[in-house]
Amino acid sequence: MLVKDGVIARVGAGIAGGLGKDVRIVDVRGRWVVPGLIDLHCHLREPGQEYKEDIGTGTRAAAAGGFAAVCAMPNTTPPNDTRAVTELIVRRAREAGSVRVYPVGAISKGLAGEALAEMGELKEAGCVAVSDDGRPVMNAELMRRALEYARTFGLTVVQHCEDLTLSAGGAMNEGPVATRVGVRAQPASAESTMVARDLELCAQTGARYHVAHLSSAESVRLVREAKRRGLPVTCEVTPHHLTLTDEACATYDTRCKCNPPLRTQADVEVLREALADGTIDAVATDHAPHSPVEKEVEFEQAAFGMIGLETAIPLVMELVREGRLSPAAFVTRMSTAPAAAFGLPGGSLTEGAPADITVIDPEAAWTCDPRALRSRSQNTPFAGRSMRGRAVLTVVGGKIVYSGENQS
Ligand SMILES: [Zn+2]
Repeated sequence: MLVKDGVIARVGAGIAGGLGKDVRIVDVRGRWVVPGLIDLHCHLREPGQEYKEDIGTGTRAAAAGGFAAVCAMPNTTPPNDTRAVTELIVRRAREAGSVRVYPVGAISKGLAGEALAEMGELKEAGCVAVSDDGRPVMNAELMRRALEYARTFGLTVVQHCEDLTLSAGGAMNEGPVATRVGVRAQPASAESTMVARDLELCAQTGARYHVAHLSSAESVRLVREAKRRGLPVTCEVTPHHLTLTDEACATYDTRCKCNPPLRTQADVEVLREALADGTIDAVATDHAPHSPVEKEVEFEQAAFGMIGLETAIPLVMELVREGRLSPAAFVTRMSTAPAAAFGLPGGSLTEGAPADITVIDPEAAWTCDPRALRSRSQNTPFAGRSMRGRAVLTVVGGKIVYSGENQS
């Protein structure tokens, strides 16, 4: 593969023969060379919460995790609901000089769920989708208008599916584990009833709709049915919802507290099947950095979320190793399908495509040490876990933004 002027110039055998001395040659034998990974869902915390993460640390973490592009959720301080905030993010990302950052704009002003944000302005400034992530759009009439409005701008509407009247502040999944440990819980139906409502509005408006961090078997069933109906719906799942269950919360480990909460083994099985068969389009990290101030408190008081950019590859590769996901599906769910869901460039290694490339060593064995990660925050439940597989090279627009060749 020859990379020149930021694009993939040639792919094939025997290219190295006729090249001059100024060409850098990277030996990738035994490695996977895949289109740069694309994360549809992360929280870079800038502006406003730089003590957790900023665009510099977040994009370096992304590059080290093999991501060539990330979508930054709008629940910053202030939220990304105006042109000025979007432009700030775009500018800071350019200054950071690492992976591509695609801002996701707010659906509603102030993420308050009352009045729609100026989506045209947000799109012009660089937003690639809209979401009130962190919060659902509870008002069905507002959601309908959001879908209609977003459609006129060709923007995908991304919903954090949670009926707040059902979830009611629940800190983990409702079920036997929550009962046993005595933690206030939210039922899986808090997610699936919102998915069901939105799919009806998606059918009514014809707008592109994306379910963020889908977590329950029932939500999978609804999306599968909607796809069969031909609705323009896509969805994503996080590595942690594919890997952990609510049992992980039984020790009140706040690193395992996330929203939607970790579900049951039965849900995990359905999510894995749906990822393999394509019902679930994409793996997205929902990388959510928090400081000890938010996490070293009682379980019910702790903030939701965990970091995920640097652990996504080995966690999804566990499924490949177990024969649950083909290597080709790994690439589709981590790059090609995310690109398609939001209409982003990338996701391809054909001649003429932007040179966004991730090189993975599928056998690299390492142990997750949060202090060794690039993220400013260390809130990961995977600390100490034995991992296999990691990015050894991340290239964005022909430029190497991460090289981990000499790491163990
Ligand atoms: Zn969310």
